[in-house]
Amino acid sequence: MLELLKPQPADKIIALMGLYAADPRDGKIDLGVGVYKDANGKTPIMRAVKAAEARLHEAQTSKSYVGLLGDLSFVDAMRNLVLGTSVAADRVTGAQTPGGTGAIRQLAELVKLANPQATVWLSDPTWPNHPAILKHLDIPTQSYRYFDAATCEVNFDAMMEDLEQAQAGDVVLLHGCCHNPTGANLDLLQWRAVTDLVLRKGLIPFVDLAYQGFGDGLEDDVQGMRHLLGAVPQAMVAASCSKNFGLYRDRVGVALVIAPDEKTRDLAKGALSSLNRLNYSFPPDHGAALVSILMNDADLRADWQAELEEMRTGMLDLRTGLAEELRRATNSDRFDFVANHRGMFSRLGLPPEAVEKLRDEHAIYMVGDSRINIAGLPKDGLTRLAQAVAAVLS
Ligand code: PMP
Repeated sequence: MLELLKPQPADKIIALMGLYAADPRDGKIDLGVGVYKDANGKTPIMRAVKAAEARLHEAQTSKSYVGLLGDLSFVDAMRNLVLGTSVAADRVTGAQTPGGTGAIRQLAELVKLANPQATVWLSDPTWPNHPAILKHLDIPTQSYRYFDAATCEVNFDAMMEDLEQAQAGDVVLLHGCCHNPTGANLDLLQWRAVTDLVLRKGLIPFVDLAYQGFGDGLEDDVQGMRHLLGAVPQAMVAASCSKNFGLYRDRVGVALVIAPDEKTRDLAKGALSSLNRLNYSFPPDHGAALVSILMNDADLRADWQAELEEMRTGMLDLRTGLAEELRRATNSDRFDFVANHRGMFSRLGLPPEAVEKLRDEHAIYMVGDSRINIAGLPKDGLTRLAQAVAAVLS
């Protein structure tokens, strides 16, 4: 049987991690994988998470199962963080999932259960795991143009033109903030226009929110998304706690479903519960329990927000610094967009040969499409990166 397996395509980003690890050169720079790093190149355990962990260690008296939908105090805390007051609480149901990826997978399966005919519309480009998961589930997809390669900003007219082709009942996958891989985001007016289009055409929004708090702040990052979700009868959100709580390996996420009425909400709740049962029964508890403790304690929550804010502003400083260095090194404004992008990523718009040269000749690793993880830059690496970019382009 096993010999019948076909080799699976390697995940490009995971493959890049391997190449970086095997590179013996001193001073190599990893701008590949999407993990936050501080100025010392470390991915810290956040202070409030550590404190919540100590409390959990003291207070926990059993490791027995919790429930198929996970820890409901966690789900509720996440509903509040993600949706605020944009949608009435009684229209929302949700399930704890292993990471944001788990939430995307469960919600994609829910789409398929509810409407096997629905096409899911994906931004071009998008996080490669979106099309991979949908293909694995045999869910039809289409892409809408999103990124203008010339300006490295959103090509909004093209996006709207493509979404005009979607049929009623189709699903539109949108990045809630901090678009991966481009770093280019919709502004509030554009979110409003997307809302009007979604309502007019009867589309179902499916928002992937993996970086809340990494762009303009916890509330500002979700303003546009909340406007959309507050206006539509039905929607889904897959939220990840990997980045903003730094809980990557503990696998913490939530799948939220917004329903028009109680009856539909309960149908969705039953589907989420059944999908958890079918795929892994109970979601992993530890990290979600930490989020629940932290979010329900005023001091821990304030400390978490303060540390998240330090991370966010640190990334913004790196952005302005890099844009300045690139201006100097290339003697042009070609890369000014780096300062306007938000989140952990920017797509630099370099040709594949330049990306390869950066790796081979300068030990600077970025994804093949020239996506860089801004948080991967050591402070003293700004000049080196800018000069290397200028060198490979000349
Ligand atoms: N969506 C996007 C756009 C992402 O970049 C990521 C993380 N790379 C995720 C979802 C899911 O992350 P995780 O499963 O680690 O929570």
